Amino acid sequence: MDRKLLLIILDGVPYCNFRRLFGNLEGWVDSGEARLWKLRAVLPSTSASCYASIHTGVTPQEHGCTGNGNVFRLSHKDVFSQVREAGGVTGAVTHSYWSQFFNRHPFDYVRDIEYDEPESATINHGRFHSMTGYGKANQMTPSDVDLYATLTNLCLRFGLDYGILHTCTLDSMGHRFFHDCEEMDHACFVADEMLAPFIPRWRQLGYEVIVTADHGQDERGHHGGRGPLQQETALYYFGDAEGPDSESVISQLQLAPTILSRMGAPIAETMKAEPFLR
Ligand SMILES: [Zn+2]
Repeated sequence: MDRKLLLIILDGVPYCNFRRLFGNLEGWVDSGEARLWKLRAVLPSTSASCYASIHTGVTPQEHGCTGNGNVFRLSHKDVFSQVREAGGVTGAVTHSYWSQFFNRHPFDYVRDIEYDEPESATINHGRFHSMTGYGKANQMTPSDVDLYATLTNLCLRFGLDYGILHTCTLDSMGHRFFHDCEEMDHACFVADEMLAPFIPRWRQLGYEVIVTADHGQDERGHHGGRGPLQQETALYYFGDAEGPDSESVISQLQLAPTILSRMGAPIAETMKAEPFLR
């Protein structure tokens, strides 16, 4: 592998919330440690469909996941399979959909809640949460700091070349409280502060880091459609590559081939979008 990389997905954060409320990430843009672009999600801008597109680099119309009610083992090659093909070690600290899409479906709570499978063709080290029972009145969400610590633990113990982390905290908050409120101001502030100390630590361990969301949310906490608040989020990049000018809008389909090109892993023939980092 040429490089190691961590992809951090904060579920359901519209572009404006990243810019307005994530003071650590924005401070690193000002200091030159991070680059920032706007990123446009695929349609439907629904979580499961977006996860599948982030990792396969193809549209929901091609991979077939039409929403959270239609989760299955995808047939397309993805970031995990390609990193494994290049001999890299992969890890995931995410919602269980990621295990279902890229390793095996259905999700068996006991067998799949965590696994270490060095010979796997996709996910070597998985730590999952299902959020079963999630609703407005009961978020069923792990603390973000526990997830960041788990990912760091996997990096240190297993020498991950590629790791992905996904947290649903802010998506759940947005569905419950919407966005123009004290609760969301505070939730984004805490999310930024919990993430921040891990970024220099991961950089010291030799990782490039990408922080983004799967989709945004509109004023009523909704997403799935084409509205800019629903479809547009931010992407922060910590690393040495050159990117496009800061006015460029990145397609979500560019993420998978970009990650693979940074790592020196083969880009699958189905991943047609151009890498945005050189
Ligand atoms: Zn989502």
